[in-house]
Amino acid sequence: MSHVSDRDVPTAGCTTCRPNAATPFASVLAPLLAAIVAMTPFAAHAAQPDTDIGTVMAGPGRQDARAFSPERGPADAFLQDSPVSLDAGCLQSSYPDQVEKITTDAEGTWVVLRTGQRILYASPGVQTVTAVDDHDVDVRTSMRQIYPLDPDRPDTPVGFEPGRLRSYALLRALYGGDPAQVRRGLTSVDFFGSSVSMARPAARALERVRGRLFPVVAKDVSLLEWLHPAGGQIWRKIAGESRLSPHSFGIAVDLAPDRSAYWRWAKVSPHPQQRSYPEVIVSAFEEEGFIWGGKWHEFDTMHFEYRPELICKARHLQGVGTTPEESPEAGGEGPRTKLSTSF
Ligand SMILES: [Zn+2]
Repeated sequence: MSHVSDRDVPTAGCTTCRPNAATPFASVLAPLLAAIVAMTPFAAHAAQPDTDIGTVMAGPGRQDARAFSPERGPADAFLQDSPVSLDAGCLQSSYPDQVEKITTDAEGTWVVLRTGQRILYASPGVQTVTAVDDHDVDVRTSMRQIYPLDPDRPDTPVGFEPGRLRSYALLRALYGGDPAQVRRGLTSVDFFGSSVSMARPAARALERVRGRLFPVVAKDVSLLEWLHPAGGQIWRKIAGESRLSPHSFGIAVDLAPDRSAYWRWAKVSPHPQQRSYPEVIVSAFEEEGFIWGGKWHEFDTMHFEYRPELICKARHLQGVGTTPEESPEAGGEGPRTKLSTSF
């Protein structure tokens, strides 16, 4: 339900999208950016709720994700204010069937779903970031660290964990708040000979990853050793933690755990595999909206997680294109896969 004082946040189109990208983000939203003349940082607006958010756009402007590389120093160098319009555009284009708009009122800025449900994007006046050990955050914080797209494999100092901070309120709204709700949105997909159960949009994205990898594997069959799925949807907590794993929502798949490295069990950190893991695999997943856990300080190299809004944002900031095209939707059930050992 919209409040009368709500103000819609216009969505920033992707000025760097591929010209032929027939996505809502590129074809519908991109022209909006051309009309933008006001460039006011979101943080300034957040401190002044009465500001007309219709003029609040792409904040500090385009930034290169490499600007968040470790040479900038401590972890807070990675925690940058996000331009709300870019976040809004990526959320809408990633989840067009669920996300209607972003609005702001005296109580905060909200991701408004088509059901009318509101998910906290940011509290008013809050310009500091959530502590890095609190992984259930508002949506703005969940999108704040810029995920480095392959071939970028930056160092991963303490606090570097793009995508590891999540808005569980958003995940529950998108995929279901309990096991039964999540199960209704699952489907199964064959991935190089094994069945994986995932939320329907993630499963479709995984099918596209498979399509990208088929010709690559045909040329180099040794890559198959990395492509054994070991865990899709399962309602459980993260190993050693009290919060739910993203596997609970059917958005993550683990590959080849016997070959992979996990920060809790590894003897070295950073782990050489964070650099050596086959780029062709990581890139195929990233192209379809998945982030890779090998790019976190608390690395999990088996873990691929469907977070298309983060890939959208990274691609926009790096000027290499736009978002994957799929959107989550409900319905269907599929078999569960076995428990994975980490995320
Ligand atoms: Zn995992």
